[in-house]
Amino acid sequence: MAEYVAKLIIIGSGPAGYSAGIYAARAGLDPIIISGFEVGGQLTMTASVENFPGLTQSVSGLELMERMHQQALNFGVKIINDRITEVDLCTSPFVLSTENGNCCKTQTLIIATGASAKWLNIETEKRYIGRGISTCATCDGFFYKNKPVAIVGGGNSAAIEALYLTNFASKVYMIHRRDELRADSILQQRLKKNPKIEIVWNSIIEEFFGREDISGIKIKNVLTDERKLIDVSGVFLAIGHKPNTELFKKYLDLDADGYIITRPKSTMTNIEGVFAAGDVQDNAFRQAVIAVGSGAMAAIEAQRYLASKET
Ligand SMILES: Cc1cc2nc3c(=O)[nH]c(=O)nc-3n(C[C@H](O)[C@H](O)[C@H](O)COP(=O)(O)OP(=O)(O)OC[C@H]3O[C@@H](n4cnc5c(N)ncnc54)[C@H](O)[C@@H]3O)c2cc1C
Repeated sequence: MAEYVAKLIIIGSGPAGYSAGIYAARAGLDPIIISGFEVGGQLTMTASVENFPGLTQSVSGLELMERMHQQALNFGVKIINDRITEVDLCTSPFVLSTENGNCCKTQTLIIATGASAKWLNIETEKRYIGRGISTCATCDGFFYKNKPVAIVGGGNSAAIEALYLTNFASKVYMIHRRDELRADSILQQRLKKNPKIEIVWNSIIEEFFGREDISGIKIKNVLTDERKLIDVSGVFLAIGHKPNTELFKKYLDLDADGYIITRPKSTMTNIEGVFAAGDVQDNAFRQAVIAVGSGAMAAIEAQRYLASKET
C-alpha cells in the first residue's frame, strides 16, 4: 500500500484529465493522474476522430489518447493506473482511497471522471462498438453520408440527433419502445415533417448483424412480437448518459441529472480547491475538444488557487 501526497491530483485519464495534467505539469504543480481502469477515456472507443483541431487526417481515438498520454508523461505527469473508490472532501488536504489499497492526499483535486453513455446491453452490441454503433451523432454522423442509419431513443437528445443525422444519412429510422416521444413538441413536429425520418414505434433492437461492420438490425415490436430486419450502416444510441459522480454526491452540488455544477465560466465546484472538468460537468456538449478546454481551465484555476494560498 502506497501513500501519494500531491499539490494536485486529477481523477480520470480522458481528454479532460490529460489536458489538466499537461497544463498543471507545465505550471510546476507535479500533478498525479489516477487514470481509472478506462485508460484514455471514452474516445478510445471510436475508430476515427476527424474533428479534433490539428489533425490533418483522421486518427483512431485510441491513437489520439495514446498521444495525449505520452505528452503528459513527457512533461513529468505521474500516471497511476488505479481507481478511486472513496473520497473525503471535508478534510484538508483531501483524502482519496483507491481500489488497489493506496491512499492519496492532495491540496487540490480535479475531477475528470466523464459521463458514461448508456448501452442497450444486448449480446451482439459490444462487437459493433466503433464498427457502426456509436453513442455520439455529432462525432460520427459525418461518416454516414448517403447511408441509412437508425437512432434509438425518444427524448430531446434523440430527436436533436435524429434531425442532425438527416444532414448526412439517406434515411434515419428512429426506433422507440413506446407509442409516444418524450421530446419537446416543437422537436416532434420537426421530426414528423422531415421526409428522411421514419419513427418506428413500440420497437426495440433485438440484434445487430453484419460481417465486420453493421449492415442491419433486427427489431421487435413489443406489442405484437413481430420481428423485422432493417438495413442500416450505423446505429446511434441516444438513451442517455450517466455522469460518474457517485463518489462525490455527498459533497458536491449536482444538477438533476447528476452532473457536477461548476460556477459560470469556471471549473470551480462548491468546495474550494475542488474543480470539475470535461463531460462530468457538461450536460450539453460532451465533446473531446471541449473536455480538453475545460481540463486546461481546471489546471489554471488550481494553480491560481494554490498561489493564492501561498500569499
Ligand atoms: C463512440 C464515441 C465517439 C466519440 N467521438 C468523438 C469525436 O470524434 N470527437 C469529439 O470531440 N468527441 C467524441 N466523443 C466524445 C468524447 O469521447 C468525450 O466528450 C470525451 O472523452 C470526454 O472526456 P472526459 O475526459 O471528460 O471523460 P472520459 O473520456 O469519459 O474519461 C473519463 C475518465 O475517468 C476515469 N474514471 C472514471 N471513474 C473513475 C474513478 N472512480 N477513479 C479513477 N478514474 C475514473 C475513466 O477511467 C476515464 O479515464 C465520442 C464519444 C464516444 C462515446
